[in-house]
Amino acid sequence: MNPLRENPQTVLVVGGGVAGLVAARTLLDHGLEIVVLEKSLGVGGRLATRRLAGGSSFDHGAALFDPVSGPFRRQLDAWEEDGLVERSGVDGRDGVPTRRVKGPATSLAKHLAHGLDVRLGAKGVALVRSGEGFELTLEDGTSVRAATVLLTAPVPQSLELLERGGLLPGIPAGTRAALERVSYHPAFVLMLRLSGRLETFPPSGALLLRDGGPVARIFENARDGGPSRLSVYARGEWAASRYDAPPGEVAEALRKAASSALGFDPAAVLDEELKRWRFARAVSVFPEEMAFVDVDGAPLLLAGDAFGASGPMGVAGGARPPLAGNTGLERAFLSGLAGAGRLLGRRG
Ligand SMILES: Cc1cc2nc3c(=O)[nH]c(=O)nc-3n(C[C@H](O)[C@H](O)[C@H](O)COP(=O)(O)OP(=O)(O)OC[C@H]3O[C@@H](n4cnc5c(N)ncnc54)[C@H](O)[C@@H]3O)c2cc1C
Repeated sequence: MNPLRENPQTVLVVGGGVAGLVAARTLLDHGLEIVVLEKSLGVGGRLATRRLAGGSSFDHGAALFDPVSGPFRRQLDAWEEDGLVERSGVDGRDGVPTRRVKGPATSLAKHLAHGLDVRLGAKGVALVRSGEGFELTLEDGTSVRAATVLLTAPVPQSLELLERGGLLPGIPAGTRAALERVSYHPAFVLMLRLSGRLETFPPSGALLLRDGGPVARIFENARDGGPSRLSVYARGEWAASRYDAPPGEVAEALRKAASSALGFDPAAVLDEELKRWRFARAVSVFPEEMAFVDVDGAPLLLAGDAFGASGPMGVAGGARPPLAGNTGLERAFLSGLAGAGRLLGRRG
């Protein structure tokens, strides 16, 4: 990989999820030189779509948005106009409709990434201070250099990058303690391809279950009227208490709960796959929309869905109930904007 030019405008964004892409987009729109590194082979992070053998696609990350802040409401309006999201039919707050992704969820990320220099399959492993800025070593042994770095991986993973590069001790104690307090709930999503169309499914394509069982919600991915492709999302607390359980047991419990909620015969399942997310939803957050650290004169920022001040989201730092609303993507969005804003402000 080519070393990046070290100039005051080069920003290296680690993570091609929504926070990283929104930050990169905003900085690019203001004329900065940006490179996004993403360890996976596609953008989106937890805004995720998967193809099973046979080619059928399933969303298995963020899918439903219940916006709170003005900027995210406006973004959803713009995405709705572009045909990327649609009204979900599930009640939202303040009379503002909730939206769900219309096509594959990753289409939103691809839309944000359009025109950006995103390098896929590039996993950062250690960040060190070097010259006027930083040097990030990648898993393949190459490295990239940049004047400014914005880390948007889930916080424990960003802290690992800093620890391996010896940068953790340089972070002010209060900031470091707040970063180390950030925690996430895990999640399970069972993807089911059925032999026929489930006519019992609500026309909105989204079903929320509030019976306290293992399943929180089910989405229909086949919006074209073809055989059903269901994404079955486990409840947060249920997933947290079974994170290390055998995958077969978890899948069976979710399949049974989905089949009894929707009235289909489990024998109608042609293919299935269970996705386990370790860092799915932030439950204990950093009390500002991003963290800024001056590392011997070089700017380092951390952002993502685990960052959020009181204010538009109305949730101060500290613990908040898991799965309290569908706001993770909004936090990531606002945090990415805040990270970019901080850098643009520094530049004057
Ligand atoms: C099952 C599930 C359901 C959800 N449902 C909803 C919902 O309905 N509504 C909602 O609003 N939110 C939902 N969320 C939460 C939402 O998806 C997240 O809050 C949001 O997508 C987080 O975005 P992010 O950019 O902060 O992080 P991420 O999307 O995690 O992006 C971080 C990126 O960094 C990359 N990365 C990590 N380490 C490295 C490294 N070392 N080098 C290079 N790249 C790296 C990762 O591959 C990833 O792409 C859900 C999440 C899950 C898992």
